[in-house]
This record gives sequence, structure tokens and C-alpha cells, in this order.
Amino acid sequence: MFRSIQWRITVPLVLLILGIMGILGFYLVNFISKTQTDNMRYLLETEARLSADVSAPGFLSSDQQNSLDDLAKTLGKQIDARVTFIARDGAVLGDSEEDPQTMDNHISRPEVIDALASGVGESTRFSTTLSQRLMYVAVPVIGEGEIVGIARVAMPVATIELSIGSVTKKIVLATVIAAALAILAAFLIARATSRPIKEITRAARRIASGELEQKITVTTSDESGQLAQAFNEMSLSLHEMIREISEERSKLATVLSNLADGVIMTNKEGAIVLVNPATERLFGLQADEALGRQFIEVIHDYEIDEMLKSCIQTEHEQTTQLEVGKAMRFLRIIVLPLKADRLMGALVLFQDLTELRSLQTMRRELVGNISHELRTPLATIKAIVETLQDGAIDDKGVAGSFLTSINSEVDRMIQIVAELTELSRIETGKGKFNLENTDLNLLVNESISRLNPYADRQTVIVKAELFGEPLLVTVDRERIRQVVSNLLHNAIKFSPSGGKVVISTKLEKKHVLVSVIDNGIGISRNDLPHVFERFYKADRSRSGGGTGLGLAIAKHIIQAHEGKISVRSEEGKGSVFSFTLPLK
Ligand code: ADP
Repeated sequence: MFRSIQWRITVPLVLLILGIMGILGFYLVNFISKTQTDNMRYLLETEARLSADVSAPGFLSSDQQNSLDDLAKTLGKQIDARVTFIARDGAVLGDSEEDPQTMDNHISRPEVIDALASGVGESTRFSTTLSQRLMYVAVPVIGEGEIVGIARVAMPVATIELSIGSVTKKIVLATVIAAALAILAAFLIARATSRPIKEITRAARRIASGELEQKITVTTSDESGQLAQAFNEMSLSLHEMIREISEERSKLATVLSNLADGVIMTNKEGAIVLVNPATERLFGLQADEALGRQFIEVIHDYEIDEMLKSCIQTEHEQTTQLEVGKAMRFLRIIVLPLKADRLMGALVLFQDLTELRSLQTMRRELVGNISHELRTPLATIKAIVETLQDGAIDDKGVAGSFLTSINSEVDRMIQIVAELTELSRIETGKGKFNLENTDLNLLVNESISRLNPYADRQTVIVKAELFGEPLLVTVDRERIRQVVSNLLHNAIKFSPSGGKVVISTKLEKKHVLVSVIDNGIGISRNDLPHVFERFYKADRSRSGGGTGLGLAIAKHIIQAHEGKISVRSEEGKGSVFSFTLPLK
């Protein structure tokens, strides 16, 4: 506490004031006491000289004894002092307070000795006669040109001691008051001086604890005011700087967390210092568990680790393409040295090319599939045309049936092209949906009616188990009918003759569920994940001339209606195709 500026100012100031007042008081008391003593001495000397003058005839008369004693008593009363007349030999001849007969010889009294020697003598001492301290002043009495005796006047010093005491008391009181005022003033000055410093200290502590926006009110223009001003400017620029840094950081963090590419930053010892969310997803790891650990402990791939090491060693970029992890993601890996003025670490970038590669594969496959699908009817048509050219054209009956075949092959090609066009329009979002409120049960019934002739031909029974009330949905009627018909068509197609297909509609919480259940050939476990892909036919020999596009189109139509389509199937036992649509 006494280390504070306040006390460092107050204590010396108070000590200084007390010292000065002490010295001043001491000097004043001394001065007053000396002046009083001098005054008293002067008074006593004057009175002694007067007494000497008045008493001179007495000393010369024959009956000295009585007359001088009377004179002493009279004078004593008049001047309110003790008056003593002493003979030249020291015998006391008169005294205002005592009977001279009873008094000792005074020749050896210091004041008497001095008076005889130098014309005046003074002494202050305790008087046993009056039991108090007295100041004595003696002068010689001159009669007829000779010293005839001594006149002595004395007064108690208690009077001046009393007045000195009262002056001392006043000085002490004044000192105490002055010291108290000084303490108060020093305290206030010190407080005013140290307040801005305390305030700055408090603000600095708050800044240190993270509250960056601190402002001190500047009230003075002195040094502490300037300090407060400088502090405010510093705090402002600090706040600004930190804001800029955190803005930069958050920009970087936003970029890093939204980056589709994985990013890992390591220091030059190969320990991980940064991991972005894409990396977490790619390798199924947690950033906080990875931080601080060695790269190889987190990304268990020696090839990438070697790249990192050689990048740190050579300070050169390393690139490769690899299949990584359990999910066999196909990645392009770029390792870059992180340099400022010196190497700080490395940046490992993971670009996931899996999707791109599968897209390329899909495109290749699609082109292959389309050419394959078109090649068969084209080859058939070419063979028929050649046969006709070879002479069959002349046989009207044969030619007619050949032309029918050509027509149906052309129809098939038209269907493939139409379905492909439809698929591409839905996929690219170009296909317009004509949304209407409708009862789904109605659409299902229409599909059943459409496919009933086909079911009869296949000798398959179609049974409807529809929800008892209208199921209102907002859909493109034609397209949803197309989905239902496609599922129903497949179910009939892949059912044995005499088989049974059940189509049901149900109301669930927020959507309707349509299921098409058959007890036909089912789909093998290997084929099941692929049935919704374009041109995928599980069993080409039994696909019954299908294009393999129906389910792909169905999937896209349902997804465009914010619904879901799924399949459960067991080979040899049958399949269940279901889709949902949001309730209006
Ligand atoms: P397709 O025009 O060949 O029927 P789809 O896309 O509609 O094409 O069906 C793709 C493949 O899925 C079919 O070739 C078939 O192998 C299989 N599939 C579809 N529905 C069923 C079903 N109900 N039972 C068994 N297999 C089916």
C-alpha cells in the first residue's frame, strides 16, 4: 500500500511539513523565550538602578538598617518584585520579603560578584526563601563617588515560562493543524495525480483479459492526461489491429472451411498445425485430435508422408495422384513448402477427383451404352434391308413382315432417344413440371387400367390396396403416372405367369407412400445398388426389351418432387419398389 504513488507523494510531503514546522517552532520558542528573558533582565536592571539611586542616601545614613529595610519593602510592593539591599561586605540590609537579620551574607552570590566587578550582575536560580526560580539583577549603589552597597531586584521566572509555554502550545497546535491540512492536501494532490495512472492500469488489465475496447476519459492536459490520451490511441490502434487480424483470420477460416479440397498444414518438424473440415470428412478424423501430432500418425499413408518429408527437405513442390483410405478416394495430392523468409512448414492439399473420375467413367459408359443400345436395332435393320435387296422384296408376304420388324426396331430406337431426352431434361432441370393438386389414388388407378391388358397377357394379377381417403399431392400428373406405370410394368414383366403384383398407397406423417410388391425373380445383391442407374439391366436376357432407363427416369422424377424412391429385393423371392411424395 505504501508503495503506491499516492503514499510516495504524501509521506515525504508530510514529513517535510512536520520538519519545517518543528524547526520553525523550535526557533520561535527560543526566540520568544530569549526576548522575554532579555526584557525581564532589562526591566529588572532598570528597576535595580532606580532602587540603587533611591537607596543611596539610606546607605550613607547612620541608621541604615531600618531605613533600607523599610525602603525595600515599600519599593517591593510598588514594583511588584523582590527588592534587596546588600552592604558592601555582603550583609543584607533590607529585603522586601524577609527579615534581613535572618538572611546569610550575600557577598558570594554570583549576581553580587558580577555587579561589584562589572557594574551589573545577573543570575537565575531557585530561591529557597521564596521556593521558586527567580531572576536576580544586581547593580552597585554609588554614594559620594564610591560603591556603598548593592541593590538587587528579583522576579519569578515562572511568568515568562508561563507565556513561553502558551506560545509553544499555540505553535504546536498550528503545526498540528498545518500538518493535517498538508496531509489532506498531499493526499488529494497525490490522489488526483495517481487517479489517471490507476485508471490506465485498470484499463490495461481489462485489455489483457480480452476486453479490447477501453477508453479513458481525459480530463487534464498534463503528463497524466497525455499518458491517458496516448493510452487511448494505443488501445484504439490495438483494437483496430486485432480486428484486422481476426477479420483476416476469419476470412481464411471461412475459405478453409468452405474449401472442397482438404488442407493440412504442418510445421517443419512434420507436426500438424492446421486441419480443415474437408480433410476431416475425407479421412474421417477430428481436427483437435490431429493437431500437434506427426503427419504419419494421422494420415496413415507412407507415400504422402515421404512427399511431405522431401518437400520440407528440398523446399520444392511435390505432386501425385493416389487412391487413398478405406473408401478408396481418388486424390490429387500437392505438397507445397510454406515459406516466409525461411521455411516454416508445408501445406498438403488433397483434391478429391473421385467424383470427376466417376463422371468421366459414366460419360464413357453412357456413350458406350447408347451406341450398344442403338447398334442392335441398326444391325437388325441392316440385315433385313440386305435380305430385301437380295430378292426378298419380291415376296410380298415376307417383305411385309420384314417392314413390320424394321418399323418396330425404329420404334425402339425412337423410344430410347425419347427416354434419353426426357432423362436429360429432368436431370438438367429443363423439363417443365406441370404441377397440379390431385388424388394420388386416382393416378394409381389410371396406371393400373393402362397396364391391365399387359398384365392379362402375362397372366399376372394386379391387386390394388389403396388408402381409404383421397391422398392429396401437388405433382405433375403425367410424370407421376409414368413412374407408377414403369414400376408396375417392371413388376408384371419380372413376375412368373400366374404371379401376383400388389400396389398399395399409405398415408404417413407428412407424406404418402406408394409400394409396388411382386413375387417375381427379384434382384441379386450385387445388382441392387445399380438398378436406378442409366441403362442398368440386371439380367439382360430377361429384361424383355427394356431400355434400362425407366428406373433412372423414375428416380429423377421423384427427386424433382422432393420425394424418395427405394427398393428392397431378394433374388428368387420378389421385389418391393417404393416411393414417397410430400403431402399437400
Ligand atoms: P428396363 O426398361 O430394362 O425395365 P428399368 O430401369 O426399369 O429398365 O429397370 C432396370 C433393371 O432393374 C431391369 O432391367 C431389371 O433387371 C431390374 N428390375 C427392375 N424392376 C424389377 C423387378 N420388379 N423385379 C426384378 N428386377 C427388376
